[in-house]
Amino acid sequence: MAMFKDIPVDVGIIYEGERIRGPDMHIEFGGVKTPVKFELVQVKPLKDVTDGKVEIIGPDIKDLKEGGTYPLGIYVEVAGEKLEKDLEGVIERYIHAYCNYMEGLMHVNSRYDIWIRLSKNSYKKGLNSFRFIGLVLQRLFKAEFPIIENIQITFITDENKIRELHSNAMKIYEERDARARALKDEDVSEFYGCVLCQSFAPTHVCVITPSRVSLCGSINWFDARAAVRINPKGFNFKVEKGECLDPVKGEYTGINEKVKEKSLGEVEHVYLHTFMGHPHTSCGCFEAIAFYIPEVDGIGVVHRDYRGPTVIGIPFTTLAAQAGGGKQTEGLVGIAIEYFRSSKFFQADGGWGRVVWLPAAVKERVKSSIPPELIDKIPTENDVKTIDELKKHLETHNHPIVSRWKAPAAPPTPTPVMEEAKGAVPIIEIPGLIPSATMPAEGFRIVLKGVKIHVDTLVIKKAESEKT
Ligand code: SF4
Ligand code: ZN
Repeated sequence: MAMFKDIPVDVGIIYEGERIRGPDMHIEFGGVKTPVKFELVQVKPLKDVTDGKVEIIGPDIKDLKEGGTYPLGIYVEVAGEKLEKDLEGVIERYIHAYCNYMEGLMHVNSRYDIWIRLSKNSYKKGLNSFRFIGLVLQRLFKAEFPIIENIQITFITDENKIRELHSNAMKIYEERDARARALKDEDVSEFYGCVLCQSFAPTHVCVITPSRVSLCGSINWFDARAAVRINPKGFNFKVEKGECLDPVKGEYTGINEKVKEKSLGEVEHVYLHTFMGHPHTSCGCFEAIAFYIPEVDGIGVVHRDYRGPTVIGIPFTTLAAQAGGGKQTEGLVGIAIEYFRSSKFFQADGGWGRVVWLPAAVKERVKSSIPPELIDKIPTENDVKTIDELKKHLETHNHPIVSRWKAPAAPPTPTPVMEEAKGAVPIIEIPGLIPSATMPAEGFRIVLKGVKIHVDTLVIKKAESEKT
């Protein structure tokens, strides 16, 4: 039974986690193969928005070649007396959820990064026009946000038109981000959260604070606050700060409690501003991934559009598969590009002083946030290709990380997390990338969960022998 009689495919939450692989795909829009794509929501005056209007600029789905990849812009204009501008970011993020409610339609990422696939099956059923997608979006939006009085949607496949609107959209995203940049975690009395991605990543909970935008980059603290105000039962919720346990790492009792509740007990601690210990969980929509490079004890970052292997020889896609799905992985964390601009950017790990590799494109984008004395010290793929070259570059450029290597103690190793077992034996859990780890064995059970570890030598010693 279809949800809407005039829509050729079914619509419902059960389709949300549906993936469309290459062989099942009829057509796709956006993604890494297309340089420009975007989705944008804007609040407009009532008289400027025609309710129910769906416009298509350029060829429609049925006019495009099967198997092709095309650029796309989705422009949604909403109006309503009680509608605030602050809601634009959140309404925009719901495009992702609602497209995924449609049978045979897959929507990934947000803003300037969108990627949409339509399945062969649903195309055959008659989903051959953006008009249907527009109508479904309009109905779902009005049901979820009754304060939307008028909604009109334009789909653009004409590349010149997309380029024109794309540069305007980029300006609007930047304005939203800039506004949140003025606030810090300590300036507000509560934080917010989001669980929109739990359909793909069941234990993932985004904690959204002024100093840490959501990892998809599309919901900042203002956006989430506005969403909770008008829709307290939606994907966004309030997170009481509680007591601040560690202002540097960014650990709060209120966050721990809320994340535990929303992850159904799976995640008990979250540190906002470190990628060690208990870092934030990662779903799959992160704009970039920060990864630990044990050989130099530094942080590398790679973004979604980066092709080819990173300096550690692993491409974005492989890192994303390891980091994603709602896991909390030490040394591997999904972030938004905007997080680079936060004054608390990985502050517990040493912030920018710990960053040792970046793609040139990201470096260029966030240049104004990099401390000036570090700009030439942080290499990109144009400077180094291997770990050996990286080490040399850091040394010859006198990167601050080098002083960490010279410290008398060995490079700090993420400490395994100890948990009391139900029985007599404690359990050691090692949740992530560990450069080396001494694991006490006698009287312990060692549990390695979801880890890929390569061990060169494992030395087991009695604890007393260390004391001499
Ligand atoms: Fe919400 Fe986080 Fe998913 Fe963005 S990444 S939609 S903030 S859960
Ligand atoms: Zn996500």
